[in-house]
Amino acid sequence: MTPWEFIKEDGWLVTLVFLAFGLLILVFFYVEMMKDKKCQEEEKRQRAEKADRDAIVDSLVSIYFTALEITLSTGMVKVILIPEFLKKRFNVNDASYEAVKENFIENFVTDGDKENVREFLDYDSLIENIKTQGYQQKNYLGITQGWCRITVVPVKNKETGEIEKMVLAIASIDEEKKREEKLKYRAEHDHLTGALNRTAYSRLEKEYSKNVGPMAVMIMDIDNFKTVNDTYGHNVGDDVLKEVATLLQNSFRKTDHVIRYGGDEFVILFPEFDQGFEERIVGKVKNINEVLQHPTKDGIPPVTVSAGIRTFEGSYNDVLLKQADIALYYTKQHGRDGCTVYQSFLTPAED
Ligand code: GH3
Ligand code: MG
Repeated sequence: MTPWEFIKEDGWLVTLVFLAFGLLILVFFYVEMMKDKKCQEEEKRQRAEKADRDAIVDSLVSIYFTALEITLSTGMVKVILIPEFLKKRFNVNDASYEAVKENFIENFVTDGDKENVREFLDYDSLIENIKTQGYQQKNYLGITQGWCRITVVPVKNKETGEIEKMVLAIASIDEEKKREEKLKYRAEHDHLTGALNRTAYSRLEKEYSKNVGPMAVMIMDIDNFKTVNDTYGHNVGDDVLKEVATLLQNSFRKTDHVIRYGGDEFVILFPEFDQGFEERIVGKVKNINEVLQHPTKDGIPPVTVSAGIRTFEGSYNDVLLKQADIALYYTKQHGRDGCTVYQSFLTPAED
């Protein structure tokens, strides 16, 4: 039988085999093509996901300079975002939380804040806190970055709702702190003399009302200041006020508080005193008056100040300032240019 006869006789079978074979090839190519398409789609999806993630990271960079992801079940850390300078000194990726924490505290937190940050980052209490109270924050003074804020946010599993990760991000708040400090400084300082103002006095008054130890308060007033203003003008008067304030700030300890109480009146709060304090302060006022005879700025006339001081044991209250004022009045009545220590027999000024 020739092949042609064979095909003619069993043609349907061969055709079927060919057709089946052809179909198989078609199916194979189709599956391969679909696989390829799926791969491309998956790649595209992953690229889009990465671009989304990069965009998120880029926007985070404007606030946070470091962000780490911690898986709670393993306690392992993954980097979301870390600056180049940290990368070199700080091997974080796929390291344990404890190792990263210690490395971070040792190298980036100033000594004064190390313990606070260590306590805040304690793994078990941090997890407990984010579970019970939500996100947690802690400010610290960094060695290289100035003031920083750590924020820890919980990440929940979408299906179970269980917290399975936390993201720990660090932001620089140096500018914010500086602004805050500037505002606080402005709120509590007299803009003319740089001394503390009445707002600061009110705060200190409250603080020292809880005090138990020895304390002292002095009130001081420039002598015949009206005459200075009348004779030399208000601007010169202002310069005298500045001169006196600077001298007071330089004459007493850094821990004492020099307050411009109003007009030409200054109050000085001494949070503590020791043996011989009253004589020393009277001596200091004498010295201040000697220095004020030789003003540092041209055109400023020599002036003197009068003061009254009240020392006491225990908590501060306004009565003590009034008693210091009685002592000041005594100085004014007895030739000015000096300081009187309050005694109970001194009598207040008649209104
Ligand atoms: P005394 O020796 O009795 O204290 O006499 P005095 O002339 O100093 O009287 P008093 O302390 O009552 O006068 C305070 C003056 O301080 C009155 C006011 O015009 C002036 N003064 C208050 N605030 C300012 C200020 O900011 N700048 C200037 N230049 N003068 C001020
Ligand atoms: Mg005066």
